[in-house]
Amino acid sequence: MTTSTPHKRKKAHAIALFSGGLDSALAILLMLKQDIEVTALTFMTHFGCDLKDRSSCGSNPYPMAEQFGFNVKLMHLGQKFVDIVEKPKYGRGSQMNVCVDCRILMLTEAKNYMEMVGADFVVTGEVMGQRPFSQVRDRMNLVIREAGLRDRLLRPLSAKLLPPTEPELAGLVDRDMLERIYGRSRKRQMELAEEFGLSDYPTPAAGCLLTDAGYSNRLRDLLAHTERISFDDLNLLRVGRHFRLDRHTKVVVGRNESDNDQLRRLKQPHHYHLEAVGVGSPVTLLIGPYTRENVEKAAMITARYTKARHEPQVRVAVQNGDDPMEVSVTPAAEEDISYVIVR
Ligand code: SF4
Repeated sequence: MTTSTPHKRKKAHAIALFSGGLDSALAILLMLKQDIEVTALTFMTHFGCDLKDRSSCGSNPYPMAEQFGFNVKLMHLGQKFVDIVEKPKYGRGSQMNVCVDCRILMLTEAKNYMEMVGADFVVTGEVMGQRPFSQVRDRMNLVIREAGLRDRLLRPLSAKLLPPTEPELAGLVDRDMLERIYGRSRKRQMELAEEFGLSDYPTPAAGCLLTDAGYSNRLRDLLAHTERISFDDLNLLRVGRHFRLDRHTKVVVGRNESDNDQLRRLKQPHHYHLEAVGVGSPVTLLIGPYTRENVEKAAMITARYTKARHEPQVRVAVQNGDDPMEVSVTPAAEEDISYVIVR
């Protein structure tokens, strides 16, 4: 008589979208509680989902991963994300945010990664009824369909409100151990955080830079005046005050030392650098044709943001390659800049 070794089932492997926020952390912890292996994907974009942010849109995933024992993979969405920001298929939210296209892109990347590493399903921290724009049921279904995930997407925080997914039906996930959270109250999430011993998590934030009104105005202006935006253009949008002189010309003025340092770093060979002489001055970049009129306007704007703004004349140095020059200008008045500032 032969005895067969009992078949040991392969440990299930989930790919989780992980922003570092509470909901996505809890979704992962609910999987770990079931002894499911988790690889967390943390996405980065040019629109603020930086690891150093403390928004729920992109905080550092590593401390939590170390505390609870899961893997992290960082993915920069680069040009793919810029493409959807330029031309979103499903429109925008209240500002320039493209949440539906963004979720589709992230889930598509997660699905591709799942298939590449032979994982079983994808997990997100989405909660039914929590957000008006991207998380209502129809939108969720649309996102899943477009990402091609169908029933291989598990949302553990609201799973019991949704039809069973493939990993639940296949016995990889115990549905009884999932949640039925609905709406904006964070009460159940707080309870779960306490149960799991999760104390250091960011408070929910509005989202990435695309939800910020000031940033969105600068981006709208850029899109209206640029055929194909570059990463350099986008990096500049995060820094300083922006002024649109005409279709081809803009001026960026540092608001503080940090902006000034960044502008020095971001300056490209085709940008012109201006600074007032003999007074504390912001760093200004003139981006556009190097004409007398443009230089004088950029110099007047620069002078306005110095301590000498009430003086009749301020000297401003202009660096133009190997041919530096100086102009003397009257600082711009409030009414002068109100026409050109991009707020
Ligand atoms: S706010 Fe919207 S567009 Fe920005 S990262 Fe979040 S889901 Fe994506």
